[in-house]
Amino acid sequence: MTIAQTVSCLDGYDPDALRVDKAREAILACLSPITEVEQVPIQAALGRVLAEEIVPRINVPAHDNSAMDGYAVRFSDLQNGSFLKEVGAALAGKPFHGKLGAGECVRIMTGAVMPPGADTVVIQEVVKKEGERITIPPGQKKAQNVRYAGEDLKVGTAVLGSGKQLKPADVGLIASLGIGEVRVKRKLRVAFFATGDELASIGQPLKEGEVYDSNRYTVHGMLARLGVEAIDMGVIRDNPVELEKAFRTAAEKADVVITTGGVSVGEADFIKQMMAKLGEVLFWKIAMRPGRPMAFGKIGDAFLFGLPGNPVAVMVTFYQFVRDALLYMSGRADAPVPLLRAVSAESLRKVPGRTEYQRGILFKEQGEWKVRTTGQQGSGVLRSMSEANCFIVLEHERGQVKAGEAVSVQLFEGLA
Ligand code: AMP
Ligand code: MG
Repeated sequence: MTIAQTVSCLDGYDPDALRVDKAREAILACLSPITEVEQVPIQAALGRVLAEEIVPRINVPAHDNSAMDGYAVRFSDLQNGSFLKEVGAALAGKPFHGKLGAGECVRIMTGAVMPPGADTVVIQEVVKKEGERITIPPGQKKAQNVRYAGEDLKVGTAVLGSGKQLKPADVGLIASLGIGEVRVKRKLRVAFFATGDELASIGQPLKEGEVYDSNRYTVHGMLARLGVEAIDMGVIRDNPVELEKAFRTAAEKADVVITTGGVSVGEADFIKQMMAKLGEVLFWKIAMRPGRPMAFGKIGDAFLFGLPGNPVAVMVTFYQFVRDALLYMSGRADAPVPLLRAVSAESLRKVPGRTEYQRGILFKEQGEWKVRTTGQQGSGVLRSMSEANCFIVLEHERGQVKAGEAVSVQLFEGLA
């Protein structure tokens, strides 16, 4: 099926003012997750996408054990007076070999196996010890300070599913089951290049009218964060022969090709002709700011994202369209990035009819989360992305925002 057929959900929509949510839906409809799988040691599995279910073959913990340093007792003994006899010790890795009789207790350390017969642990700080005679104060609760076998992970109950990107806690959890290797999806291969006759490379002096190519570095950075294999193909001039060669090579090497520049009105015609020859590419004008022009299509088996050239537009379109597409193709089953609410500390210019992604700084003032912009919002002002810690997402229908109104924000960073 062609891309144009697959994105029939766009039929009837204005291709010169496509809504963000519609474009997103259309893109995802065309993609499918990669299927190839490889086996890696768990040290190398951090950030990779799990391609199997992890089902414990042991309980974690494997035995009932103590959560505290203290004394293992029979709770029923505590009803008949508070004196117990210390008959031994249980340490982590060195269990007490014996059974607790009536009126007896065992000195126990955190992580030590509960001695047979004992059901409760009394912390050492509250007991009185005179030789073997241990005095327990009243007020203890049955089963306190005991960790039960399987409390963390249970034999037969799956703990991690296919599609989970492995975080430090997950790698530790797999290790706690004694598993040393896991099956993960192969990494998605993403080739990228920047286009433009005006682009100078770092190390060359700037000639009149030139700018240093920064897009290739931001794209590389954003790809690195997603855990894909990034293939940097450099800068390609606005020249049909060179461009055609670059597109062909990129599409052969990679699952996805990302380009920057060359999709604005003045340049698109030229690229359009060439792409029509190579594959199938749709040119969209998205009702958003920044980032209006964007191309999406397929060359051979590779999907193409033709992002705009302006540095901020590159990042916004990447985060709003490409990121989710790459995660989906990587086999990841992440929950969507949450939109949080914050109070706008200033009035914001906005007209209905497009979604805007203003660069914001979320901050706390007198117990309340507020957001202000980073100042100048031009799509060439990359400093705005560097200073921001969030996008202020102004919805399609929304108009002018007054200071004090609530707005949606999308945070750049998470914790784990
Ligand atoms: P374009 O979409 O190719 O017309 O480019 C739009 C604007 O973005 C122009 O001002 C370009 O100079 C600028 N631009 C394009 N590519 C890059 C790049 N790789 N690095 C920095 N600026 C760029
Ligand atoms: Mg250009």
